[in-house]
Parts: sequence; C-alpha cells; structure tokens
Amino acid sequence: MAASTHIQYLKGIGPAKAKLFERLEVQTVEDLLHYYPRTYQDRRLGRSPNEYNSDSLVVFKGRVLRTQEIPARSVLIFKAFLEDETGNQVECTWFKKRMYRGFRFDPFGTLKKDFRINQELWVIGKRENKNNFFGNKITVEEHYPANDVLTRLHAGRLTPIYALTEGLTNKQFRQFVYEALQTGTLDSEPEILPPDLLSKRKLLSAPQALKAVHFPNSLAELESARTRLAYEEFLLLATAWGIKRTQTKILAKDYSYQIKKTLLTPFREQLGFEFTNSQKKVINEIFKDLCSPRPMNRLLQGDVGSGKTVVALCAMLLAVENDYQAALMAPTEILAEQHFLTFKRLLAGLKVNVAVLTSSTKTAARKKILKELADGKIDILVGTHAVIQDEVQFRNLRLAVIDEQHRFGVKQRSRLKEKTAKLDLLTMTATPIPRTLALAFYGDLDVSTLSELPPGRQPIQTETATSKLAYDRVREEVQKGRQAYIVFPLIEESEKISAKAVTEEFEKLKKVFPEFRLAILHGQMSQSEKETVMADFAAHKTDILVATPVIEVGIDVKNATVMVIENAERFGLASLHQLRGRVGRGEHESYCILVPQHAGSVARERVDIICATRDGFKIGERDMQLRGPGEILGTRQSGELEFKAGDIFKDKDILYWAIEDRDEILTKDPSLSAPQHLLFKKKLIELYQQDWHLIDLS
Ligand code: ADP
Ligand code: MG
Repeated sequence: MAASTHIQYLKGIGPAKAKLFERLEVQTVEDLLHYYPRTYQDRRLGRSPNEYNSDSLVVFKGRVLRTQEIPARSVLIFKAFLEDETGNQVECTWFKKRMYRGFRFDPFGTLKKDFRINQELWVIGKRENKNNFFGNKITVEEHYPANDVLTRLHAGRLTPIYALTEGLTNKQFRQFVYEALQTGTLDSEPEILPPDLLSKRKLLSAPQALKAVHFPNSLAELESARTRLAYEEFLLLATAWGIKRTQTKILAKDYSYQIKKTLLTPFREQLGFEFTNSQKKVINEIFKDLCSPRPMNRLLQGDVGSGKTVVALCAMLLAVENDYQAALMAPTEILAEQHFLTFKRLLAGLKVNVAVLTSSTKTAARKKILKELADGKIDILVGTHAVIQDEVQFRNLRLAVIDEQHRFGVKQRSRLKEKTAKLDLLTMTATPIPRTLALAFYGDLDVSTLSELPPGRQPIQTETATSKLAYDRVREEVQKGRQAYIVFPLIEESEKISAKAVTEEFEKLKKVFPEFRLAILHGQMSQSEKETVMADFAAHKTDILVATPVIEVGIDVKNATVMVIENAERFGLASLHQLRGRVGRGEHESYCILVPQHAGSVARERVDIICATRDGFKIGERDMQLRGPGEILGTRQSGELEFKAGDIFKDKDILYWAIEDRDEILTKDPSLSAPQHLLFKKKLIELYQQDWHLIDLS
C-alpha cells in the first residue's frame, strides 16, 4: 500500500468512516500516520501502588475467578473478581440503570461472554476506593482479552490517545494506525532528511520515528521519535524562511533615503528628553535598513512604556525628509487617535502634515483626507485598518509602521502583507516575544529590541487585595492629587454586555467615591465620546476612569498612579502586564492592585506571576506557555504556527539545531540541487511553495 492511498481502502474503514476522518484532515494513509497522538496513557504493568495518584488509571492483568450479578432497586450490578499471577486480586464493577419496562436483552450479555471463568484479561479503570490499591475495587473503563494480538495496542504499554471526532474511538483509531503501519507503507517511503544530518544529530529514521510516536516501547523511545519529527518540521520551516529571506534580500527597492536631518534635528531638539541608549541603537538599525537597497522588514519589540512611539516617529520623519509618505496603523481607534494627538504634539511647529483615518471618520473629512493623500499633501497618516482599504491611495507611500501588530486579526495581517510587500515595514509589539518564538514566527524578519525603559520610571508595586483595600488606596492617591483607573473584564467577549456591566459598576462606584470626579469608558461609546473622556482624563478634569479593557493599549497619562483590575483572574498575563503599564509613567510611585474573584489554579498562577515579575519578556514567555502561541498571535485558525510534533518552548534546542543546519545546507547548496537534498526539496515545495511564493524552487 502506498502512502498516498486513500484511507477508505484501509481495512475496517469504508467511505462512511472516511468521512469522519476528513474532519480530522486525514485523507491518505500518510496523513493518518502523521496524525500524532495528543497524549499517552501509561498502561504498563508493574508499577507499585504508590506510583498511582488519585487520578491515574489502574491497569491490571489477571484471570477471572468468579462473577456475580446483583439486582438492586434502581440499578443492576455486575461484578467480576480477577487474580493476577502473584495473587493480587481486584473486584471489578459495572452498573446499568434498571429499565422498568421490557428488558428484552441481557444488559450484561457481552460482559458475561468476555469475563468467563479462567479467562485472562486486561482491565483498565478507576479505583473506587482511592486509598487502597490491592484487594480493592475498580470501575472498569476498558477491558481486553489477553490472548488477542491486538490487545497489545491498548494495554500493557504506553498507550496513544488521539484527539478525535465524534464517531471514532481511540480503540478503533489505534487499530487503524497499526494497520497502516503494517502494510509496508513505511518501507516504501523514502527518507527526506539528508543522511549526514541524521547521523550528526543521531536521529531515528522516518519509519522508526513514526512507529515509535504511535506505539512507543519506552518514554526514551518516545522522546527520540518526537525529536526526529520535530526536527524535520523545524528544518523544513527554517529552510523555507531561509530561502524566502534570500529572495527578499535580492529584491531591490527603486527608491532610496538620505539622512538630511532637516526634520530629525529640530524634532530632537524640541523633544524635551534624550533618547535612551537602547532607542539610539534601534533608530540606527532602522535607518541602516531604510538606507539599504532592499526593503526593510523589522520587528521592534519593547516592553510597555519603553518608548517605541518616538522611535517609529524618527523613521517616519526620515521618510518625510525624503519627500515620501509614511503610515502608522494601530489596532484600535482609541490608540490611533492617541498616536495622532501625540504626533501633533511632538511635531508642533515642524513642517509635517499629519492626519488620522479610522472607520468612524466622517464622510466629508474622509474625502478630504483621501484627496490629500493622493496629492501628497499629507505626510503621515495615522489610522486603524481603515488605512489598508483599497480606496486609500497614496502618492508615494514608502514606510508602513504597524503598532501592536499581534492584535490585528489573521485576515488583516495577510491583507497587510500584500499591501506592504514592496514597502519598508516596521512592526512593533509590546507583548515581547521570546527569541525562539520570534525566530519561529518571524523567521524572515529582523528583530530590534528596546531593552531599557526611559530613566526615572518608578517600579510599579503590584499586589492582590480586596476591593475595599484597593479603593482605600485609590482614595488616598486621589486625595494626593493623583488619578486612578478601575478596570473590569470583558464579559463573554462581548463589548455590549461588558458595557452594561461596567455601567452598573460605575453607578456603584459613584457612591463609593462621592467626593471625586468619575468617568466611564467602554467600547460601545461613540468615537467622539471616547475622545472627550480620554482628553478630560488626560487634562485631569476627572479623577477616576472606570473602564473595560479598551484602555489596555497605549494610553499615556503620567499623573495616573493606581490601576485597579477587578476580576483579575479573567485577564491573560499579557493583558495584565499591559494594563499595569498604564501607570508608573511619571515621577510618582505607582500601584497595580489585582482584585481576584474566584480563582482557579491557572488564574491564580497568572496573578502570582504578574505580582512577582516585572520583566515583560518573562511574562510573555509564561503567557504563551499557559495559553499556547497560536492563541496569542491569532494564528490558531490559520495554521501558521502549528507544529505537529514540535513545541517551540520545550524543543528550543531542536529549533536551534534546525536553524544551524539550515544555514549550513543553504550555504553549501543554495538551490538544494545536490542529490541528498532532492527529496527534502520536494517536500519543501509541497508544503510551502504555494503559500510563500518561493521563487523558482522547482
Ligand atoms: P510604548 O513603547 O509602550 O509604546 P511610548 O512610546 O508610549 O511607549 O512611550 C512611553 C512614554 O515615555 C511616552 O510618554 C514617551 O513620550 C516617553 N518617552 C519615550 N522615550 C523617552 C525617553 N528617552 N526619555 C523620557 N521619556 C521618554
Ligand atoms: Mg505604544
């Protein structure tokens, strides 16, 4: 049987079952073999009783001593007593609800057949009495006759558990995989990894790895199998980036920049602060990219408050000095508006024309902006994704900056990629991405990092407290002339419901703080309402801002010193860190107070981490471990960063191997035309050419 054979020809799978497999995106025998287990259960014998924790399965192999049927009032009970070779005994129990009308068949018929006296069986189940293993009772979940050859797939081993769809059971699935492994498919499958790498990294061959990933004989063998499969995935992806990167580098841009400083110097002089060393370094990196003959593709990462905006502004000013246009895109209207206001302030007196465009820009204003963009009258456009719509035409846009880029949806991002293909592109993120992830996700991207905060920042004291204590702190600070945020979580991911909830809380809080000026901010308010509220808060016309997480990104009010986060357990780590970053922006000591409601263990863990850690990078890494990178980067649906075997946190070392080996391969054989690379190249084309537009690989 060939690997490409449709699975409906596999023994036991017909067209109907094949439909179920389609839901798992399994069509061919090869797909099935590459559908790796989600996890494994240790169903080996010989563990001592104290190795069992209260949740673990009991695995027992023994002969049936006797069985017993007990009719009770509402349930029927069947019991089987088994004894193993060493004389240990277990009592197995099954229940069936009694049906009062018409039992036409014996509910325990099959069990009675399976559990005949002296028959040897494996039973797998849960202990009824958790404190006592031997001589005890178990509720059986699965049982298998000892003399069946297939039993060894399910019992007495590390047993694979698959993520399945309704209509398929793990038992069936294991047998199908076994069938697929039996048919000789693997023997006819060529090895795609070059032999020298297999031996250099001491990797299992593909057939060995596939067998072992489904039916490992030991944990060590499982680890070797996973290593091989993860390495293969990483190497393929890394090589695709490598090629893509070389190809982008040879794309020359048909425009160039000169550092004239006609705007940069006056900008710097009126800024009112010195750039940090980190900012200087990053600005240099960006200028070097801009002045180089190929398009820039750089990720700027820096913790909340590290000063990314002025760095971006420097890049944009360089474009404007050269008579080009630049655009900045932000994920929310509030943030776009805020950037716009910041730019206006920082550029006051300079000959730079800035405009803002969002989906709530009124028709007349919008028309005017579109015209001035086409004429080249506007130098810098700030906006939301409204900026990438088709009717927005620039005269000579050269630089695109994307703020908080991970907050854009997958669709918007790919649209953006299209729109900006030939531009200089700077993306910024304040959810700092661990280096491994940056490599994995942005393989074709250069990364700059702002590693220090501007001087004079106060560390933010973070603690958990009850609402009452939190409000005491708020009162104390506001009495000193400071301001505070009180944030409530999104409810059911709906801004509408959240708006209602936060409005109710707002009414209550007005009674808690009758002496202060309170304002409310949520996503259901109109753009101009939001602006007014923000402007009033920034101007200290209000003392306490009660809000949904709309304020999460970018808001910059130096006099605000308290951030109270209600129901803190409902926020992700990155959000908590972002929210905390709204305070501690000026010279005053600042506080972030988390008020948890009901904390589950993960929630508790998040709250503990945020209290103990200030380093955004560490928080980013923990967040991804808790949530998975896809969820954070919005790639879950897109499959952009889905590894089947690899795990970019656990398998850091393997990822580095892959990157090192990729570099070596591409240096020696950039077109992958050496005989030992041909099969690897074929696989690469199959996987990546279409989506990645790799030029001329075939
Ligand atoms: P983020 O990186 O979170 O986007 P911002 O760009 O909003 O941070 O900067 C946070 C605040 O720090 C802003 O008020 C900004 O003007 C200020 N800032 C930026 N760079 C410096 C610096 N070198 N010295 C002092 N303040 C700075
Ligand atoms: Mg920012």
